Amino acid sequence: MPKVKHQRTKTLTIKSNDRSSDFVTPNFIYGCLGGCRNSYCYVMRYNYDTVYINDNLDDILLKLKQHVEALPFPKPANQVDPQYWTYDIGCSTDISLHWKHYDWQRVFDFFRDHSRAKATFATKYVNTALLNYQPKKKIRIRFSLMPQSVSSLLEPNTTAISERINAITEFSRAGYEVHLNFSPIVVYEGWLQEYRELFRAVAAAVPPELRQEVAAECIFLTHNPWQHERNLERGFVQSEALLWQPEKQEAKQSQYGSQAVRYQLPLKREYINQWVALHDEIIPWNSIRYIF
Ligand code: SF4
Repeated sequence: MPKVKHQRTKTLTIKSNDRSSDFVTPNFIYGCLGGCRNSYCYVMRYNYDTVYINDNLDDILLKLKQHVEALPFPKPANQVDPQYWTYDIGCSTDISLHWKHYDWQRVFDFFRDHSRAKATFATKYVNTALLNYQPKKKIRIRFSLMPQSVSSLLEPNTTAISERINAITEFSRAGYEVHLNFSPIVVYEGWLQEYRELFRAVAAAVPPELRQEVAAECIFLTHNPWQHERNLERGFVQSEALLWQPEKQEAKQSQYGSQAVRYQLPLKREYINQWVALHDEIIPWNSIRYIF
């Protein structure tokens, strides 16, 4: 079992990111006890053994304040957000899962109340305690979705996909901005049929008045050779059979410098075309912010 360690971080770096957010904050928490830690989680490529809770919130929030206030405003609209400089606060953990470990309301307050900034995080957990907060559409939750059969294998003990889908409307009505995070998209026999069912469930759950708000990021699987070996050593043979398919994959240098594998590019182009065609057939109102 990983250790949970409180510390004061000196790493106050704010990274640029033009996909899920404009920037990634310094870590409030670095590490995760999520159910996907023994399958595809990229955080586990770097930090498997410890969940670091960074207690010096004052330092992190001051750094963020200085950063956002040095940016031009109004912000030029982009696919991340038309209005606010948007910061991912949960790139190295799951905020909904680890909410008890730190003063999340203080972090949410900073973003909600700042005139130029917005926060965002992806999650695989529906935490109804967050519904007691009033985020005024300045906190964007990205619920992670994949077919339940694959989620059961790759993300054991996370919230059921049907509950995550039902949470879209609930969280949006509570004042969160809600997006979808189709990640990772895994290719296997019958994958498109299962995505058809998933898209139908989303279509049935999201009422017309919320469809303008909901948008999606879509990220095909990457994996990593050392992570693959470690998962196999720990007995995760069935999930690795899905994640590690050398006949379909090729090596790539990941954005953060580590070695990774992804679907071979010609195959991946075809997978993307098939996935987008199906998506557009069933939930055309959901705008795809980016897909790769
Ligand atoms: S919830 Fe996210 S950060 Fe946590 S183990 Fe899963 S993929 Fe990793």
